[in-house]
Amino acid sequence: MDKEEADFIVVGAGPAGCAVAARLADAADRPSVCLVEIGPATPSWLSRVPMGIVALVPWRGRHNYAYQTVPQAQLDGRRGYVPRGRGVGGSSLINAMICTRGQPQDYDGWAALGCVGWSWRDVLPVFRRIEDNTRGADDWHGTGGPLPVSDLRSPGPLSRAFVEAAVQCGYPRNDDFNGPRQEGVGLYQVFQRNGRRVDAGSAYLGDGKPRPNLRVLAGAPARRIMFDGQRASGVLVGERHLRARREVIVCAGAIGSPQLLMLSGIGPAAHLRELGIAVLRDAPDVGAHLQDHVDYTANLRVRADGLFGTNPATLARLTGSIGAYRRRGEGMLTSNAAEAGGFIRSGPQVERPDLQLHFCIGMVDDHNRRMHLASGLALHVCVLRPASRGCVRLGGAGVADAPLIDPNFLAEPQDMELLLEGARIVRRILAAPALAAYGGRALHGTGSEDDEGLRALIRAHADTIYHPVGTCRMGADAGAVVDPRLRVRGVQGLRVADASIMPTLVSGNTEAPSAMIGEMAAAFVLADQRP
Ligand SMILES: Cc1cc2nc3c(=O)[nH]c(=O)nc-3n(C[C@H](O)[C@H](O)[C@H](O)COP(=O)(O)OP(=O)(O)OC[C@H]3O[C@@H](n4cnc5c(N)ncnc54)[C@H](O)[C@@H]3O)c2cc1C
Repeated sequence: MDKEEADFIVVGAGPAGCAVAARLADAADRPSVCLVEIGPATPSWLSRVPMGIVALVPWRGRHNYAYQTVPQAQLDGRRGYVPRGRGVGGSSLINAMICTRGQPQDYDGWAALGCVGWSWRDVLPVFRRIEDNTRGADDWHGTGGPLPVSDLRSPGPLSRAFVEAAVQCGYPRNDDFNGPRQEGVGLYQVFQRNGRRVDAGSAYLGDGKPRPNLRVLAGAPARRIMFDGQRASGVLVGERHLRARREVIVCAGAIGSPQLLMLSGIGPAAHLRELGIAVLRDAPDVGAHLQDHVDYTANLRVRADGLFGTNPATLARLTGSIGAYRRRGEGMLTSNAAEAGGFIRSGPQVERPDLQLHFCIGMVDDHNRRMHLASGLALHVCVLRPASRGCVRLGGAGVADAPLIDPNFLAEPQDMELLLEGARIVRRILAAPALAAYGGRALHGTGSEDDEGLRALIRAHADTIYHPVGTCRMGADAGAVVDPRLRVRGVQGLRVADASIMPTLVSGNTEAPSAMIGEMAAAFVLADQRP
């Protein structure tokens, strides 16, 4: 392959970009594909060990941008934390590995907005095709796909106690959130094989298939998309001009994709001019419509077998578990920390789950950035379909300038009311017999605040549970950034395909949906090439 030229250039190697690159490279005519990724080519050992998440998320590092938000008015003016993965694998290098897809109504809602081809009937076969589920294939699940989906090898006793406690509160048990019914509580399935994390890069590109027509350019920041007139002709990567003979596909994620479009002159004109960027196309929706799952975490100090903490006892257990992990892929190192959870309705009048729970076998205070010399547990609750909308703007005219991220959390009062109801539910579950048996003391507050007190706790502690989307929204309307075939409106030869294109946030975790979007994009690209 000519090193400065390829048929397709894919920018960003998260779950979506890896899916796009692999599927294009596997196409019948074997087009040349160049996958450009700013971060490293291979995952660190910490990323391969599932429990490594507790060290990967809190700090900036080779796999984590560790951005922060602008001050959030509804969160006491605090800046939120925005961990984002970097490297081949993207955020799947540092995420909690939970495999859920959202609800059928999410995708049917996209179709109702005019996004033809994105209904649940359209995307379910793709979800089935991308997975290799250890439980086998049926109408809802697939085998033989790139992404391994497994049950946790060694879930802790407290995760099972959480499920019991939630059942005692009247929530249905559910052993399969990706089956016919999402609602209920249970243990999550994870992107793991034999107890090891399988990030999307390893899944899609490390499958042993020879792909001489695919070149992965890691450690390579895409600074700008180049244009011949209105047609994307290539990408400026570092100091090099890479030419795309056919198309450029931007898969840089919900933060990186609007950033790259704006650096390339596609975005809100006034904002671009402020930074001295020549405007190619005034596109106000680039960076707008940021949506994220706003989350409140109740932490309890608890002493019990199987719980984690920053203390000598946990360290001793971790050291003792290395053998089991190495030999059999079992033990506490295989834990994804957020082992259990579920999808619940905030009240009987609500038609489908509007809250998600994540139960962690350790305390998670400020994303684990604040550590405590005690063991404990955390129960997260997040708003599945927030009404608040925020935005991503440039923090400077270079790719290394951290973007200004404003999720605008809880700007819409209904999000606060729903999160408050979620916090009440969390309290009830923590107090149900199966968990109450372990005792425990609230890390923040007294554990018995009234609604005003709970609101104050939410303002003091709520933040993201890491699912930003919507910043290059897909739609049939002229204002949408991409059309339903993911082509950027107003220019040629350019698509966006990743979490940023979601018109509305799906009701669940976003890795599988992002990979699905990558698969859809590759199919559109290939179909559109046909004469
Ligand atoms: C801490 C954390 C926990 C999470 N837990 C879960 C979970 O348990 N389950 C789940 O389903 N989802 C989870 N998610 C969300 C999920 O990982 C993301 O939604 C998903 O990875 C998004 O995929 P993507 O392809 O859109 O982008 P990303 O995964 O963000 O990848 C984008 C890639 O583009 C690269 N890039 C950006 N800009 C440039 C540029 N200019 N040049 C070159 N490369 C560039 C980045 O380095 C990155 O590698 C979590 C996320 C985080 C951060």
